[in-house]
Amino acid sequence: MNDRVYSFSAGPAVLPEPVLEQAREEMLSFRGTGTSVMEISHRSDEFQGVLDEAEVGIRGLLNVPDHYSILFLQGGASLQFSMVPINFLPHDRSADYVVTGTWSKKAVAEAQKCGVINVICSTEASGFTIVPSQRELDPSANAVYLHYASNETIHGVEFNYDLDGHGIPVVCDASSDILSRPIDIDRYAMIYAGAQKNIGPSGVTLVIIRNDLLDLVPQGLPSTLDYRKIAENRSMYNTPNTWGIYIVSLVCKWLTEQGGVAAISRRNSDKASTLYDAIDSSDGFYTGHAARSARSRMNVTFRLPSPELDATFCEEARVAGFVGLKGHRSLGGIRASIYNAFPVEGTVALASFMQEFAGRHG
Ligand code: PMP
Repeated sequence: MNDRVYSFSAGPAVLPEPVLEQAREEMLSFRGTGTSVMEISHRSDEFQGVLDEAEVGIRGLLNVPDHYSILFLQGGASLQFSMVPINFLPHDRSADYVVTGTWSKKAVAEAQKCGVINVICSTEASGFTIVPSQRELDPSANAVYLHYASNETIHGVEFNYDLDGHGIPVVCDASSDILSRPIDIDRYAMIYAGAQKNIGPSGVTLVIIRNDLLDLVPQGLPSTLDYRKIAENRSMYNTPNTWGIYIVSLVCKWLTEQGGVAAISRRNSDKASTLYDAIDSSDGFYTGHAARSARSRMNVTFRLPSPELDATFCEEARVAGFVGLKGHRSLGGIRASIYNAFPVEGTVALASFMQEFAGRHG
C-alpha cells in the first residue's frame, strides 16, 4: 500500500513507480559499491556503466543511428534555446522558426539575441490552438536550420508528423513528447528535450545530434556551450548530473520492458482518447483548447463554463486524489498532463470524475 495520488503535473512529472522503487533499493549502496550513485566519481567504472545504459537505452528506444551523438546536458531545454543559435547561426545567415505556443515563441526570443530569425509560421492569432500542416510550411532557401516544438506543453497542441525541412536541417524541441511515439530520427538534425516529463528528473537535458553538425560549431565558444566539445567528452566535459542520468537509465529500462516506444505510443493514444472523449461527450460543459487535429496526447487542455468552476474542479479533484490539474497561469483552465509514466487507470478515473462533476455542476 502507498499513498501516492494521480499526478497530472506538467513537469517535473510522474515517474514510473518501479523506477522510484529501484532507486530507493539502490539508494544507500549502489550495486555493491557501499555508496549511493550520487557519491561516486563520474569518472568511475560504475558511473560509466550508468552513462552507457542511459545512452544505449535512448539509442535503442528511438532507433538512433550511429552517426548521431547522444548527449546529456544541464541548463534545461531553455538553455538549448540559446545554444542552438550560438552553435549554428552565423552572423551573416538566418534561421527559420515555427511558432505554435509559448515554448517555441520563447525559443525565438532567445535566438533573436544571437542573430537573424525568420518566423515562417505563427499560430498565435488562433490562440495557439492549431499546428500547421507540412504543406503550409515554406522554409527559406538559405536558412541554416528550421526550429519547431513538436508538442506545446502549455497549450496542448502537438504535431502528429515529423516535420520535413526540405533540405534545411530540422531542430526540434521535443521536451514534452519525446519517447511518447516512434519518430523518424533521420528527419532531424537535432532533437532536444528537458528530461522532466518523459525521460527522468529535471536537471538533465537530452540532446540527439547528427555528427556532421558538430563540424559546423565555430571555434572558441565557451566550452560548456560547445556541442562539439561536449560530444568529444561524451557529456563529461565537466561533472554531469549523475543522479539524473542514473534515473534516465532506469526509465529507459522500464520503457523497454513496457514494449518500447511503439507500445507506449498506443497506450498514450488510448489515455488521451479517454480524456478527449470525456470532453466531447459533456454537451459543452468541458471545452477543449486545441483544435481536434492538433490535440496533444501529452497535455490535455480544457476549460469549464467559468474560471470559478475551473477552480472548484481543481479543488474537488485534489480531494479525490487527482493533483496538478490547474492550467498554466498564462492560459488558465485545466491541464491534464499524461506522459508515458502516467497510468491508464488514472485517465479512466479522471474521466469518470469529470462526468460525475459535470452531472453535479452542469
Ligand atoms: N520546451 C518545452 C516544450 C517545455 O515544455 C519546457 C518546460 N516546460 C521548456 C522548453 C523549458 O524547459 P526547462 O524548464 O527544462 O528549461
